[in-house]
Amino acid sequence: MNVKELLATTTDYFKKYGLKEPRLDAEVLLAHVLKKERIQLYVDFDQPLKADELNEYRQLVYKRARQYPVAYLLGKKEFMSLDFTVNEDVLIPRPETEELVEKLIEYCQSRNLTAPNIADIGTGSGAIAVSLAYYIKEARVLAIDISPGALKVARENISKYGLEERVKALEGDLLIPLLWMNKDNVDIVVSNPPYIDHEGMAELAGEVRREPEIALNGGIDGLDYYRRLIPQALKVLKDDGLLALEIGYDQAAAVRELFDANWTKVEVKKDYSGHDRMVFAYR
Ligand code: GLN
Repeated sequence: MNVKELLATTTDYFKKYGLKEPRLDAEVLLAHVLKKERIQLYVDFDQPLKADELNEYRQLVYKRARQYPVAYLLGKKEFMSLDFTVNEDVLIPRPETEELVEKLIEYCQSRNLTAPNIADIGTGSGAIAVSLAYYIKEARVLAIDISPGALKVARENISKYGLEERVKALEGDLLIPLLWMNKDNVDIVVSNPPYIDHEGMAELAGEVRREPEIALNGGIDGLDYYRRLIPQALKVLKDDGLLALEIGYDQAAAVRELFDANWTKVEVKKDYSGHDRMVFAYR
């Protein structure tokens, strides 16, 4: 079988399994196996496949049809134009979270914060921590996660971009490691915590179900982590420091309620789809 025939067969197979982008997935996985750019497949349409290539491809195709996310099959996901290693121990970084990072970069520029101290809580793959350190050249970032598996991935991504000097991965429960040190010199606390409520967890679409529950499950109303994190952040932030949270599209009002009079300002920001997606609160 050559490239052209294989792509056609696989696309049909994926269609039968109801995948939304059957052709794209077939191409992305084949390009991965053949170690080529996707566009190159079209140049090499008549190329026959070797037995071991075909074997590897078939295994990926089998899993993809059963809802394994493409990012896990490739072991990587692009985020903020960087290439992040991912596996089943971490949430796959989402485009909405890129918007959170972009807003933080703009915030630092507008305030002339050239060397901010940042804490990323529940760092997962380290997508937020690493991209902030990469684009804010003197930022120092503490990346905390409670999952040892996730920290391993985060550390891999930190060293991939040579950021060991400025990004530290630390095992811990939310901000507790910093509270313990009695530190209040943080400019920005950022977090994309688990925020899916019980109902949402029960209805997760096939692909999201492959992601770690610990990265998604926010308790009965989805707000468990905000409830704990907001008062903790108050203790570690500098005066006028920023707590930047990703939230579920329907959680803005409920999250706003969790801020008491110790906070000077609480803003809700929308994502490109027009959904409430972030809360920025100033100490
Ligand atoms: N954005 C993710 C989703 O909708 C949820 C991520 C999270 O809980 N932080 O699947």
